[in-house]
Amino acid sequence: MSSEARGVPVVGMAGGGQLARMTQQAAIPLAVELRVLTGSAGDSAARVIPGSTIGDERDAADLSAFAAECDVLTFDHEHVPQPVLRELEHSGHTVRPSAAALEHAQDKAHMRQALGAAGLPCPDFAVVSDAEEARRFAVRLGADTVVLKAITGGYDGKGVWLCPVDELVSCEAFAAGRPVLAEELVRFERELAAVVVRRPSGDVVAYPVVESVQAEGICVEVLAPAPGLPTAVAQAARDVAVGVAELLDVVGVLAVELFATADGAVVVNELAMRPHNTGHWTIEGAVTSQFENHLRAVLDLPLGAPDLVAGPTVMANLLGSDAPALHANLASVLGRDPGVHVHLYGKQVRPGRKIGHVTVVGEPGSDVDGLRHRASAAVRGLRGEGGDDT
Ligand code: ADP
Repeated sequence: MSSEARGVPVVGMAGGGQLARMTQQAAIPLAVELRVLTGSAGDSAARVIPGSTIGDERDAADLSAFAAECDVLTFDHEHVPQPVLRELEHSGHTVRPSAAALEHAQDKAHMRQALGAAGLPCPDFAVVSDAEEARRFAVRLGADTVVLKAITGGYDGKGVWLCPVDELVSCEAFAAGRPVLAEELVRFERELAAVVVRRPSGDVVAYPVVESVQAEGICVEVLAPAPGLPTAVAQAARDVAVGVAELLDVVGVLAVELFATADGAVVVNELAMRPHNTGHWTIEGAVTSQFENHLRAVLDLPLGAPDLVAGPTVMANLLGSDAPALHANLASVLGRDPGVHVHLYGKQVRPGRKIGHVTVVGEPGSDVDGLRHRASAAVRGLRGEGGDDT
Protein backbone atom coordinates (compact mmCIF):
# COMPACT_ATOMS: atom_id res chain seq x y z
CA MET A 1 0.00 0.00 0.00
CA SER A 2 1.32 3.47 -0.79
CA SER A 3 2.13 6.02 1.92
CA GLU A 4 -0.80 8.11 0.72
CA ALA A 5 -3.18 5.18 1.12
CA ARG A 6 -1.90 4.49 4.63
CA GLY A 7 -2.34 8.13 5.60
CA VAL A 8 1.38 8.57 6.22
CA PRO A 9 2.42 12.19 5.64
CA VAL A 10 5.06 12.56 2.94
CA VAL A 11 7.49 15.44 3.23
CA GLY A 12 9.68 16.18 0.22
CA MET A 13 12.96 17.99 0.69
CA ALA A 14 14.72 19.75 -2.18
CA GLY A 15 18.40 18.97 -1.71
CA GLY A 16 20.08 16.04 0.00
CA GLY A 17 22.84 17.47 2.16
CA GLN A 18 23.44 16.95 5.86
CA LEU A 19 20.36 18.93 6.87
CA ALA A 20 18.12 16.49 5.02
CA ARG A 21 20.11 13.61 6.50
CA MET A 22 19.52 14.86 10.04
CA THR A 23 15.85 15.54 9.24
CA GLN A 24 15.54 11.84 8.43
CA GLN A 25 16.66 11.07 11.99
CA ALA A 26 13.73 13.15 13.23
CA ALA A 27 11.24 11.69 10.73
CA ILE A 28 11.81 8.11 11.94
CA PRO A 29 10.11 8.27 15.37
CA LEU A 30 7.11 10.12 13.91
CA ALA A 31 6.96 7.62 11.03
CA VAL A 32 6.80 10.57 8.67
CA GLU A 33 8.01 9.63 5.22
CA LEU A 34 10.84 11.92 4.16
CA ARG A 35 11.88 11.93 0.53
CA VAL A 36 14.68 13.91 -1.03
CA LEU A 37 15.39 15.13 -4.52
CA THR A 38 19.13 15.44 -4.92
CA GLY A 39 21.88 15.37 -7.50
CA SER A 40 23.55 12.09 -6.67
CA ALA A 41 22.96 8.81 -4.83
CA GLY A 42 26.19 9.53 -2.94
CA ASP A 43 24.84 12.73 -1.36
CA SER A 44 24.72 12.84 2.40
CA ALA A 45 20.93 12.33 2.76
CA ALA A 46 20.54 9.99 -0.21
CA ARG A 47 22.79 7.53 1.63
CA VAL A 48 20.23 7.18 4.43
CA ILE A 49 16.90 7.76 2.68
CA PRO A 50 15.73 4.83 0.61
CA GLY A 51 14.29 5.63 -2.78
CA SER A 52 15.77 9.13 -2.97
CA THR A 53 14.98 10.77 -6.27
CA ILE A 54 18.06 11.63 -8.27
CA GLY A 55 17.61 14.79 -10.28
CA ASP A 56 18.18 18.52 -10.30
CA GLU A 57 16.24 20.18 -7.51
CA ARG A 58 16.70 23.57 -9.19
CA ASP A 59 14.98 22.39 -12.35
CA ALA A 60 11.26 23.11 -12.75
CA ALA A 61 10.36 19.78 -14.38
CA ASP A 62 12.33 17.61 -11.93
CA LEU A 63 11.04 19.47 -8.90
CA SER A 64 7.45 19.54 -9.99
CA ALA A 65 7.43 15.76 -10.70
CA PHE A 66 8.95 15.23 -7.25
CA ALA A 67 6.53 17.59 -5.49
CA ALA A 68 3.59 15.75 -7.05
CA GLU A 69 4.53 12.69 -4.94
CA CYS A 70 4.70 14.66 -1.66
CA ASP A 71 2.18 16.35 0.64
CA VAL A 72 4.49 19.25 1.28
CA LEU A 73 7.74 20.47 -0.21
CA THR A 74 10.50 21.97 1.94
CA PHE A 75 14.20 22.69 1.58
CA ASP A 76 17.70 21.63 2.56
CA HIS A 77 19.14 24.87 1.08
CA GLU A 78 18.01 28.12 -0.47
CA HIS A 79 19.17 27.60 -4.05
CA VAL A 80 15.90 26.73 -5.81
CA PRO A 81 15.27 29.70 -8.15
CA GLN A 82 12.27 31.94 -7.47
CA PRO A 83 10.53 31.32 -10.84
CA VAL A 84 10.64 27.56 -10.14
CA LEU A 85 9.16 28.05 -6.65
CA ARG A 86 6.45 30.42 -7.90
CA GLU A 87 5.49 27.99 -10.65
CA LEU A 88 5.16 25.13 -8.13
CA GLU A 89 2.89 27.22 -5.94
CA HIS A 90 0.90 28.32 -8.96
CA SER A 91 0.30 24.66 -9.86
CA GLY A 92 -1.14 24.02 -6.41
CA HIS A 93 1.79 22.38 -4.58
CA THR A 94 2.21 23.14 -0.88
CA VAL A 95 5.60 24.82 -0.50
CA ARG A 96 6.84 25.60 3.04
CA PRO A 97 8.36 28.08 3.55
CA SER A 98 6.64 29.87 0.68
CA ALA A 99 8.46 31.34 -2.30
CA ALA A 100 7.72 34.85 -1.04
CA ALA A 101 9.22 34.12 2.38
CA LEU A 102 12.20 32.24 1.00
CA GLU A 103 13.17 35.13 -1.25
CA HIS A 104 14.38 36.96 1.87
CA ALA A 105 16.87 34.17 2.60
CA GLN A 106 17.99 34.07 -1.03
CA ASP A 107 18.44 37.74 -1.76
CA LYS A 108 20.25 39.83 0.84
CA ALA A 109 19.16 43.16 -0.66
CA HIS A 110 15.50 42.10 -0.62
CA MET A 111 15.91 41.01 3.01
CA ARG A 112 17.52 44.29 4.08
CA GLN A 113 14.80 46.33 2.35
CA ALA A 114 11.95 44.35 3.96
CA LEU A 115 13.43 44.27 7.47
CA GLY A 116 14.56 47.90 7.31
CA ALA A 117 11.09 49.03 6.19
CA ALA A 118 9.56 47.14 9.13
CA GLY A 119 11.90 48.86 11.58
CA LEU A 120 13.82 45.69 12.47
CA PRO A 121 17.45 46.41 13.40
CA CYS A 122 19.82 46.10 10.42
CA PRO A 123 23.16 47.66 9.49
CA ASP A 124 22.91 50.73 7.27
CA PHE A 125 23.05 49.49 3.68
CA ALA A 126 22.84 50.41 0.00
CA VAL A 127 22.72 48.44 -3.23
CA VAL A 128 25.68 49.66 -5.29
CA SER A 129 26.72 48.97 -8.87
CA ASP A 130 30.39 49.90 -8.72
CA ALA A 131 33.27 51.11 -6.57
CA GLU A 132 32.28 54.77 -6.97
CA GLU A 133 28.79 54.15 -5.60
CA ALA A 134 30.29 52.15 -2.73
CA ARG A 135 32.67 55.04 -2.00
CA ARG A 136 29.74 57.48 -1.88
CA PHE A 137 27.96 55.14 0.53
CA ALA A 138 31.06 55.09 2.76
CA VAL A 139 31.29 58.89 2.66
CA ARG A 140 27.64 59.15 3.69
CA LEU A 141 28.41 56.91 6.70
CA GLY A 142 31.71 58.65 7.43
CA ALA A 143 33.31 55.18 7.39
CA ASP A 144 36.78 54.19 6.24
CA THR A 145 35.80 50.54 5.68
CA VAL A 146 32.62 48.95 4.32
CA VAL A 147 31.34 45.41 4.01
CA LEU A 148 30.43 44.29 0.50
CA LYS A 149 28.29 41.22 -0.14
CA ALA A 150 27.16 39.25 -3.14
CA ILE A 151 23.38 39.74 -3.12
CA THR A 152 22.70 36.08 -3.90
CA GLY A 153 24.59 32.82 -3.64
CA GLY A 154 27.08 33.57 -0.80
CA TYR A 155 27.75 31.03 1.95
CA ASP A 156 30.29 30.40 4.71
CA GLY A 157 31.80 33.86 4.22
CA LYS A 158 32.28 33.36 0.48
CA GLY A 159 30.82 36.43 -1.18
CA VAL A 160 31.62 38.78 1.74
CA TRP A 161 34.42 41.34 1.50
CA LEU A 162 35.57 43.76 4.17
CA CYS A 163 37.01 46.59 2.15
CA PRO A 164 38.86 49.79 3.09
CA VAL A 165 37.48 52.74 1.10
CA ASP A 166 40.75 53.39 -0.71
CA GLU A 167 40.85 49.79 -1.99
CA LEU A 168 37.29 49.70 -3.34
CA VAL A 169 38.35 50.03 -6.97
CA SER A 170 40.23 46.75 -6.85
CA CYS A 171 37.70 44.86 -4.70
CA GLU A 172 36.79 41.43 -6.05
CA ALA A 173 33.15 42.13 -5.13
CA PHE A 174 32.74 44.08 -8.37
CA ALA A 175 34.52 41.52 -10.58
CA ALA A 176 31.26 39.87 -11.67
CA GLY A 177 29.86 43.20 -12.90
CA ARG A 178 26.68 42.75 -10.85
CA PRO A 179 25.24 45.05 -8.17
CA VAL A 180 26.39 44.23 -4.65
CA LEU A 181 25.11 45.01 -1.19
CA ALA A 182 27.23 47.56 0.68
CA GLU A 183 26.83 47.53 4.46
CA GLU A 184 28.03 49.44 7.43
CA LEU A 185 30.80 47.55 9.25
CA VAL A 186 29.20 46.57 12.56
CA ARG A 187 31.68 46.65 15.47
CA PHE A 188 30.16 43.68 17.23
CA GLU A 189 31.23 41.96 20.44
CA ARG A 190 29.98 38.57 19.42
CA GLU A 191 27.68 36.80 16.97
CA LEU A 192 24.39 35.32 18.13
CA ALA A 193 21.73 33.22 16.48
CA ALA A 194 18.06 33.10 17.38
CA VAL A 195 16.34 30.02 15.97
CA VAL A 196 12.54 29.98 15.97
CA VAL A 197 10.03 27.62 14.40
CA ARG A 198 6.61 28.69 13.14
CA ARG A 199 3.50 26.81 12.08
CA PRO A 200 1.09 27.96 9.37
CA SER A 201 -1.38 28.88 12.10
CA GLY A 202 1.16 31.32 13.52
CA ASP A 203 2.21 29.34 16.62
CA VAL A 204 5.91 29.94 17.27
CA VAL A 205 8.53 28.36 19.52
CA ALA A 206 11.89 29.99 20.19
CA TYR A 207 15.06 28.12 21.14
CA PRO A 208 17.47 29.64 23.64
CA VAL A 209 19.61 32.27 21.91
CA VAL A 210 23.07 30.89 21.12
CA GLU A 211 26.50 32.31 20.45
CA SER A 212 28.14 31.31 17.20
CA VAL A 213 31.90 31.42 17.13
CA GLN A 214 33.26 32.06 13.63
CA ALA A 215 36.66 31.56 12.07
CA GLU A 216 37.30 32.93 8.59
CA GLY A 217 33.57 33.36 7.91
CA ILE A 218 32.70 29.78 8.95
CA CYS A 219 30.82 28.88 12.11
CA VAL A 220 33.13 26.59 14.08
CA GLU A 221 31.37 26.40 17.43
CA VAL A 222 27.93 27.06 18.91
CA LEU A 223 27.42 27.75 22.63
CA ALA A 224 23.88 27.17 23.85
CA PRO A 225 22.66 29.27 25.49
CA ALA A 226 25.02 32.19 24.73
CA PRO A 227 27.15 32.35 27.91
CA GLY A 228 26.47 35.31 30.15
CA LEU A 229 24.04 36.94 27.73
CA PRO A 230 22.00 39.53 29.62
CA THR A 231 18.33 38.51 29.75
CA ALA A 232 17.27 41.73 28.04
CA VAL A 233 19.60 41.05 25.07
CA ALA A 234 18.41 37.44 24.77
CA GLN A 235 14.82 38.67 24.83
CA ALA A 236 15.59 41.32 22.21
CA ALA A 237 17.19 38.69 19.94
CA ARG A 238 14.20 36.37 20.33
CA ASP A 239 11.76 39.22 19.70
CA VAL A 240 13.58 40.13 16.48
CA ALA A 241 13.49 36.52 15.28
CA VAL A 242 9.80 36.10 16.10
CA GLY A 243 9.15 39.50 14.48
CA VAL A 244 10.90 38.40 11.28
CA ALA A 245 9.03 35.07 11.23
CA GLU A 246 5.70 36.90 11.53
CA LEU A 247 6.57 39.70 9.13
CA LEU A 248 7.64 37.28 6.41
CA ASP A 249 5.04 34.60 7.25
CA VAL A 250 7.77 31.97 7.58
CA VAL A 251 6.73 28.33 8.07
CA GLY A 252 9.35 25.95 9.47
CA VAL A 253 12.69 26.83 11.03
CA LEU A 254 13.90 30.40 10.77
CA ALA A 255 17.46 31.09 11.93
CA VAL A 256 18.34 34.74 12.40
CA GLU A 257 22.05 35.45 12.65
CA LEU A 258 22.69 38.55 14.71
CA PHE A 259 25.51 40.81 15.81
CA ALA A 260 25.54 41.79 19.49
CA THR A 261 27.20 45.13 20.14
CA ALA A 262 28.88 46.43 23.30
CA ASP A 263 25.93 48.73 24.07
CA GLY A 264 23.51 45.78 24.30
CA ALA A 265 21.94 46.15 20.84
CA VAL A 266 21.28 43.31 18.40
CA VAL A 267 21.51 43.80 14.63
CA VAL A 268 20.36 41.28 12.01
CA ASN A 269 23.11 39.84 9.83
CA GLU A 270 21.28 37.23 7.79
CA LEU A 271 18.41 34.74 7.64
CA ALA A 272 18.04 31.05 6.86
CA MET A 273 14.69 29.31 6.46
CA ARG A 274 15.63 25.70 7.06
CA PRO A 275 17.32 23.79 9.86
CA HIS A 276 20.52 25.68 10.55
CA ASN A 277 24.02 24.93 11.76
CA THR A 278 23.42 27.03 14.88
CA GLY A 279 20.56 24.65 15.78
CA HIS A 280 22.41 21.32 15.52
CA TRP A 281 22.96 21.32 19.29
CA THR A 282 19.19 20.84 19.72
CA ILE A 283 19.41 17.18 18.64
CA GLU A 284 20.72 16.20 22.06
CA GLY A 285 20.58 19.49 23.96
CA ALA A 286 16.90 20.46 23.60
CA VAL A 287 13.63 18.69 24.33
CA THR A 288 12.69 18.82 20.63
CA SER A 289 15.32 19.10 17.93
CA GLN A 290 15.12 21.78 15.24
CA PHE A 291 14.78 18.99 12.66
CA GLU A 292 11.73 17.49 14.35
CA ASN A 293 10.18 20.92 14.83
CA HIS A 294 10.80 21.75 11.18
CA LEU A 295 8.92 18.59 10.17
CA ARG A 296 6.13 19.33 12.63
CA ALA A 297 5.83 22.90 11.35
CA VAL A 298 5.68 22.06 7.65
CA LEU A 299 3.09 19.37 8.43
CA ASP A 300 1.15 21.84 10.62
CA LEU A 301 1.49 19.65 13.72
CA PRO A 302 1.82 21.06 17.25
CA LEU A 303 5.39 22.16 17.93
CA GLY A 304 7.64 20.58 20.54
CA ALA A 305 9.25 22.27 23.54
CA PRO A 306 12.46 24.14 22.66
CA ASP A 307 13.91 24.11 26.20
CA LEU A 308 17.28 22.71 27.23
CA VAL A 309 17.13 19.09 28.42
CA ALA A 310 19.90 19.63 30.95
CA GLY A 311 22.56 22.35 31.10
CA PRO A 312 24.65 24.32 28.65
CA THR A 313 25.44 22.54 25.39
CA VAL A 314 28.36 23.01 23.02
CA MET A 315 28.43 22.02 19.37
CA ALA A 316 31.66 22.09 17.37
CA ASN A 317 31.78 21.68 13.63
CA LEU A 318 34.07 19.11 12.09
CA LEU A 319 35.70 20.65 9.06
CA GLY A 320 37.56 18.44 6.63
CA SER A 321 41.33 18.33 6.88
CA ASP A 322 43.86 16.77 4.55
CA ALA A 323 43.45 13.47 6.43
CA PRO A 324 40.50 11.65 4.84
CA ALA A 325 40.25 8.62 7.17
CA LEU A 326 37.66 9.77 9.71
CA HIS A 327 36.64 6.33 10.88
CA ALA A 328 40.21 5.41 11.69
CA ASN A 329 40.01 7.98 14.49
CA LEU A 330 36.53 7.14 15.74
CA ALA A 331 37.49 4.49 18.30
CA SER A 332 39.97 6.71 20.12
CA VAL A 333 37.57 9.69 20.18
CA LEU A 334 34.63 7.64 21.44
CA GLY A 335 36.82 5.80 23.91
CA ARG A 336 38.29 8.92 25.43
CA ASP A 337 34.97 10.71 26.09
CA PRO A 338 31.87 8.50 26.32
CA GLY A 339 29.68 11.62 26.79
CA VAL A 340 30.45 13.15 23.41
CA HIS A 341 27.91 12.83 20.56
CA VAL A 342 29.54 12.42 17.17
CA HIS A 343 27.68 13.15 13.93
CA LEU A 344 29.40 12.25 10.68
CA TYR A 345 27.58 13.32 7.53
CA GLY A 346 28.86 10.61 5.20
CA LYS A 347 30.38 13.27 2.94
CA GLN A 348 33.63 13.10 1.10
CA VAL A 349 36.35 14.77 3.10
CA ARG A 350 37.69 17.97 1.56
CA PRO A 351 39.74 20.60 3.38
CA GLY A 352 37.45 23.16 5.03
CA ARG A 353 34.20 21.35 4.14
CA LYS A 354 31.62 20.77 6.90
CA ILE A 355 31.65 16.98 7.22
CA GLY A 356 30.26 16.45 10.70
CA HIS A 357 29.87 17.91 14.15
CA VAL A 358 30.13 16.92 17.80
CA THR A 359 27.91 17.92 20.69
CA VAL A 360 28.56 17.86 24.43
CA VAL A 361 25.59 18.39 26.74
CA GLY A 362 26.48 19.65 30.23
CA GLU A 363 24.69 19.35 33.53
CA PRO A 364 22.92 22.47 34.81
CA GLY A 365 25.62 24.89 35.94
CA SER A 366 28.43 23.14 34.02
CA ASP A 367 31.47 25.16 33.14
CA VAL A 368 31.14 26.05 29.44
CA ASP A 369 34.90 26.19 28.92
CA GLY A 370 35.16 22.57 30.06
CA LEU A 371 32.46 21.55 27.54
CA ARG A 372 34.23 23.51 24.77
CA HIS A 373 37.45 21.77 25.65
CA ARG A 374 35.82 18.33 25.31
CA ALA A 375 34.12 19.24 22.02
CA SER A 376 37.29 20.61 20.54
CA ALA A 377 39.33 17.59 21.70
CA ALA A 378 36.82 15.32 19.92
CA VAL A 379 36.99 17.37 16.73
CA ARG A 380 40.77 17.39 16.75
CA GLY A 381 40.76 13.66 17.41
CA LEU A 382 38.46 13.01 14.44
CA ARG A 383 40.74 15.11 12.27
CA GLY A 384 43.63 12.91 13.35
CA GLU A 385 45.31 15.80 15.12
CA GLY A 386 46.23 13.85 18.22
CA GLY A 387 44.56 13.30 21.55
CA ASP A 388 46.40 15.86 23.60
CA ASP A 389 43.63 17.88 25.22
CA THR A 390 45.76 19.95 27.56
P1 ADP B 1 27.52 34.13 4.57
O1 ADP B 1 26.23 34.32 3.87
O2 ADP B 1 28.63 33.75 3.67
O3 ADP B 1 27.42 33.29 5.82
P2 ADP B 1 27.49 36.49 6.24
O4 ADP B 1 26.60 37.58 5.78
O5 ADP B 1 27.03 35.66 7.40
O6 ADP B 1 27.91 35.59 5.02
O7 ADP B 1 28.90 37.10 6.65
C1 ADP B 1 30.00 36.29 7.04
C2 ADP B 1 30.72 36.96 8.21
O8 ADP B 1 31.18 38.27 7.84
C3 ADP B 1 29.80 37.20 9.39
O9 ADP B 1 29.68 36.06 10.18
C4 ADP B 1 30.51 38.35 10.09
O10 ADP B 1 31.56 37.86 10.89
C5 ADP B 1 31.06 39.17 8.94
N1 ADP B 1 30.10 40.24 8.58
C6 ADP B 1 29.08 40.16 7.70
N2 ADP B 1 28.40 41.34 7.61
C7 ADP B 1 29.02 42.18 8.47
C8 ADP B 1 28.81 43.56 8.83
N3 ADP B 1 27.86 44.31 8.27
N4 ADP B 1 29.64 44.07 9.76
C9 ADP B 1 30.64 43.35 10.32
N5 ADP B 1 30.90 42.08 10.00
C10 ADP B 1 30.12 41.50 9.08
